[in-house]
Amino acid sequence: IDSDTSDEAVRATCDDATICKRFASSKSYWKDPYIQYFVRSVGERKAPEINRGYYARVQGVNHLLDAFLRKTQCDCQVINLGAGLDTTFWRLKDENLMPRKFFEVDFPTVVARKIHNIKTKPPLSKPLIETHSTDSLLLDAHSLDSDRYCIIGADLRDISNLDEKLKKFQLNPELPTLLLSECVLVYMTPSQSSNVVHWAAETFPTAMFVNYEQVNMSDRFGQVMIENLQRRQCNLAGVEACQSLDTQRERFLKTGWEQSDALDMMTVYSMLRQDDVARIERLEFLDERELLQQLLQHYSICWATKDKLKLGLSQLAF
Ligand code: SAM
Repeated sequence: IDSDTSDEAVRATCDDATICKRFASSKSYWKDPYIQYFVRSVGERKAPEINRGYYARVQGVNHLLDAFLRKTQCDCQVINLGAGLDTTFWRLKDENLMPRKFFEVDFPTVVARKIHNIKTKPPLSKPLIETHSTDSLLLDAHSLDSDRYCIIGADLRDISNLDEKLKKFQLNPELPTLLLSECVLVYMTPSQSSNVVHWAAETFPTAMFVNYEQVNMSDRFGQVMIENLQRRQCNLAGVEACQSLDTQRERFLKTGWEQSDALDMMTVYSMLRQDDVARIERLEFLDERELLQQLLQHYSICWATKDKLKLGLSQLAF
């Protein structure tokens, strides 16, 4: 596979994520009133275990993100790496949990699509304008910059370019910073993803990194997952770093992070609010609980912290 084809296949993965999130939220697994503006139709039915898997992913990531925002009293910034068509900015605005500034990075073509949707859909543009004070809103084809929300087109494998662009848009390295990557690092080689994680540790003295992706990929079920992705010509250069929860943690511990933890999603699922889990388990009948377990055991959340300001970031957990 040549690299353009595989990059294109990686860019297309953001549609998969959005389509699955759109479907699950349409079934009331969680509320997302904004995702409809990024994918028009609800699309074909997804299996209940897929919907529960996305539920665990969205709730798990939100749990750590919201805990960080509360711990820092929103006096912080968030950088979503490989954000795709993610709608977190609008959720945080609605829930009064907006950080000082919310950054997103993705390939320029993905960013261009996102910006086009924002420009043309008032429910998306209105909250952005409401959080902006001057008339200097920058909105061109490949970047958006307002007081509180900034979207940047960049390749995460080119760290110096990434760093330069973020600084151009008033990134403040001294502010407590949450970095998020959700199903992104797996598409890079282990040395490229280590570079991202290392850059983050070097740049931000007070920070938390949250990474969601595959884990336990060397067993039979993991091999089948890899084959399915490869069939779609996706370059899974990073699966080596997804061998175990320990390899996930080591990536952070080897690159300057003070502490790191990792849980598989079956464990996370069992630690989410159980009244809400009971609610979503009533939404659709699931025949094979074993399949759900297998699936959830092959995804993980890994998080790492550095805490120069001694805010107590190492206490953030499930
Ligand atoms: N994080 C979003 C979510 O969970 O809904 C999107 C996930 S999607 C599976 C992976 C995203 O990472 C895509 O939007 C893709 O374009 C982006 N991505 C992968 N490699 C990248 C790179 N080298 N530079 C910038 N973005 C990248």
